[in-house]
Amino acid sequence: MALSGLHLLLTYRCTCACDHCFVWGSPQATATMSIGQVRAVLDAAVRLGTVTDIYFEGGEPFLAYPLLLAGAREAVARGLQFGVVTNAYWATGEEDAALWLEPLAALGIADLSLSEDRFHGDLPSPGVRYATAAARRLGLAPGVLRVDLGPDCSAGGVRLRGRAAHRLAGRVRLQAWDGFAACPYEDLADPSRVHIDAAGYVHLCQGLAMGRAPAGDVDAVVAAYRPAEHPIVAPLLAGGPAALVREYALEHEAAYGDACHLCYHAREQLRPRFPQFLGPGQMYGEGLGADGRRRGCLRTLVIGYGNPSRRDDGVALHVVNALRARWGQAPLGPSHDGWDDLAGTRDTLFLQQLTPELAETLAGYDRVVFVDAALPEAQEAVRTVAVAPALRMAAVSHHMEPAALLALAQQLYGHAPAGWLVSVRGYDMDFGEALSPQAAAAVPQAAARVLALVETSQAAPGDGHAAA
Ligand code: SF4
Ligand code: SF4
Repeated sequence: MALSGLHLLLTYRCTCACDHCFVWGSPQATATMSIGQVRAVLDAAVRLGTVTDIYFEGGEPFLAYPLLLAGAREAVARGLQFGVVTNAYWATGEEDAALWLEPLAALGIADLSLSEDRFHGDLPSPGVRYATAAARRLGLAPGVLRVDLGPDCSAGGVRLRGRAAHRLAGRVRLQAWDGFAACPYEDLADPSRVHIDAAGYVHLCQGLAMGRAPAGDVDAVVAAYRPAEHPIVAPLLAGGPAALVREYALEHEAAYGDACHLCYHAREQLRPRFPQFLGPGQMYGEGLGADGRRRGCLRTLVIGYGNPSRRDDGVALHVVNALRARWGQAPLGPSHDGWDDLAGTRDTLFLQQLTPELAETLAGYDRVVFVDAALPEAQEAVRTVAVAPALRMAAVSHHMEPAALLALAQQLYGHAPAGWLVSVRGYDMDFGEALSPQAAAAVPQAAARVLALVETSQAAPGDGHAAA
């Protein structure tokens, strides 16, 4: 593979929240790269030996202007040329636009791309007009990026992935799902450029990663990439989004607006199974909707944990199975812990204990409800508390607390779901599998608490965490 370009998504934050946005950019989006990450990616670009172009994109990269300038300086110092893609919100007049552009021009910016179309707002955009004039005065030759839906009610130049899949698919002519038998836009087997974000995802296509490089070592991810072994890329190469749907027997509609629309719908369902390749949550609109509010179809994971061989210590298994019965699912047990059917909007797991590996899975959900057994000294038969991320790891144990697990998901994968803990008081932790009468009596109450959270609660604004 001979990558020629690395595109850095400096921040997902944006002044706009355009309907056609692939990356769910918005004023409420948060993840922003650090200068250390930018440097590490640029070092990887040099090690790759084939990269000539660095692009700074977003979101809106001018919202991270000091980082943009520092990154451009570092790229030039490594002998790489750089470009920037921006919506020109900062160009409030020609003279002001020049103030923003002069430092970039002095660094020899090779490409300045300005986005302007009816999804971004006013057309023609005054910002793009001022930025174009200022850039020309500085000897630059800016380009303008414009996309629109097709005049024949086709998706036209818009790709129906990201927010576009949710906002624009209803406005285009649909075609039978099984006709989308190839990825028409990306060379997934031999890409010429990839995008890298603050969570370290190395994107082949927005939200579809060849792998993750949290430390910026993109070259290692590229070296390890085997398209034919990648769980999402392999079916896409074999037969496009339709093959991806068939491979995993996914739910689908009869018709879609374009190949990306079907692909994105399939990937949304697969994200909990393959969070290392399908992420971060930002790319799937998890956490924030187009206007900063949470959207519908929140994805919830209920994790019961404890030891079912110590009577009431395993009460969470009974709570989880009460929920599964209500949702028409087979009960979990010794040979079925729930891992095999994680792909819905209400998933369940039962585990002996919480371990760090769970963080990756959690990052694929909007909400998580932990269910455990409390000690006999507990005050209440059933207690519910909200859990906020907090890194507290036991010094000599692989076991983790819910708060630490959320913090790990946030730190490693850029997203932690809103969390709650429902604890059921145990009375008898001796060897055996039968619950004490008191614990058994509390199971319906605990299940009702979880249902109340899953079916009626709204996560808090922002990242959705309430204080524990
Ligand atoms: S399309 Fe561009 S300007 Fe619009 S929200 Fe996305 S990143 Fe921002
Ligand atoms: S078909 Fe899938 S992988 Fe290909 S460009 Fe569209 S969304 Fe990306």
